[in-house]
Amino acid sequence: MTVETPRPGSRRLLMAGGGLPSLALALALKQAHGPALAVTVIDPGGADPARHRGRAYTLAAGGRRMLDRLGLWARTADAAEPITEMVISDSRLADPVRPVFLTFGREADEERGDGEPFAHMIEAEPLAVALAEACRAAGVAIETAGVVRALPEGSAIRATLTTGESLRGDLLVAADGARSRLREAARIGWVGWSYPQVGIVATIGHARPHGGRAFEHFLPAGPFAILPLRDGGSLGHRSSIVWTERSVDAEALLSGEPDEVLAEIERRFTLDLGALALEHGPSRHPLAFGIARAFRAERLALLGDAAHVIHPIAGQGLNLALADAAALAEAVTGALRLGLDPGGPDVLRAYERARRFDSFAMAATTDGLNRLFSNDALPLRLARDLGLGIVDRLPGLKRFFIGEAAAARGSRPRLMRGEAL
Ligand SMILES: Cc1cc2nc3c(=O)[nH]c(=O)nc-3n(C[C@H](O)[C@H](O)[C@H](O)COP(=O)(O)OP(=O)(O)OC[C@H]3O[C@@H](n4cnc5c(N)ncnc54)[C@H](O)[C@@H]3O)c2cc1C
Repeated sequence: MTVETPRPGSRRLLMAGGGLPSLALALALKQAHGPALAVTVIDPGGADPARHRGRAYTLAAGGRRMLDRLGLWARTADAAEPITEMVISDSRLADPVRPVFLTFGREADEERGDGEPFAHMIEAEPLAVALAEACRAAGVAIETAGVVRALPEGSAIRATLTTGESLRGDLLVAADGARSRLREAARIGWVGWSYPQVGIVATIGHARPHGGRAFEHFLPAGPFAILPLRDGGSLGHRSSIVWTERSVDAEALLSGEPDEVLAEIERRFTLDLGALALEHGPSRHPLAFGIARAFRAERLALLGDAAHVIHPIAGQGLNLALADAAALAEAVTGALRLGLDPGGPDVLRAYERARRFDSFAMAATTDGLNRLFSNDALPLRLARDLGLGIVDRLPGLKRFFIGEAAAARGSRPRLMRGEAL
């Protein structure tokens, strides 16, 4: 193993998990502090970008600004498609038309006054490639191993790896995903449940252009989203599908031949985008809600899905995790610039204060929306049929969908505002 030995007097950050937000944090800190901070990312998959193949994420404007600040946007913009308009409808599968109750696009951009698209769809694999390359070039060590144990030892924390070796750092970031072993080992409580739904992800090719429009149909089994990707694929144009289905029905829906699966997608698709083809997937993802009772323990910070898991109804999980990375980078940098301990309780308290409320608010809102729409919610349908436009008037709903809810409270970390650390 070739782990960088910290120079005398320098600090070391250990990161368990090499997912996208974790690599973004490693890069931000290494760029800001150079040799004064050794950063080691430890992941059994060695942060291999192939694990992200076929996935695409809605990246809100704050996340895009952060990638730009880290010098990554120019390298990934070819894998990103701006969303020009978002159209949301509510109906049953057999309904001949899907009544639209919320549309937003340019006015959401104009409301923010910067002319920047409110979101992009970005393909995860090229983003992971750019992040891993930039991390290595900046001097971040990426180790192929798991962390099995972590023990605080006064002014440091010791992480024991699956290889039997152990590393000491000032701070350990647990970014080891929803089933975080390190969160459990630190005895941090977790409030959560599984949804009786699965998320089905696929890339669809189509003959006609999507024009940058994103659609989300709220069907009784859950939302079905069609999200624009960069042109390409066998038919010239592509979209990403994020399809929520009842777990009990998913097996039957997905066990058929590819053309049967495509026929099920077409039944829900409703857009006139010409001939369709299945380009990638479908892949299946269990869906859950969860939030940690604390985002920190002694010399340990939880980040991303290890701290909160939310329903993909608004495509905000990665955006939340990037905001965690930006906030933790800011707290650690503040301490290092003052010559203070980057793993000390003040840093961890500042991080938790910055992130817990937003994470809880986002988790609770996504859960509420899923409950409201993923059934035959009669009062809601009645309100729609009476033309009350009730959802369009729900305060903050557009802001929520464009991931700008936090910006309204001015609590966005510097990197998400596009500013340096
Ligand atoms: C169907 C679906 C659609 C989604 N769509 C969107 C979207 O459009 N926009 C959006 O913002 N978000 C979306 N999300 C959410 C997003 O995928 C997650 O929030 C995000 O990927 C979390 O990243 P993470 O790094 O925290 O966790 P993960 O990506 O799970 O990474 C955890 C890493 O930790 C490693 N690891 C595990 N155990 C250990 C250990 N013991 N030691 C060291 N390493 C370990 C793993 O190998 C892995 O690399 C979606 C989620 C789903 C399910």
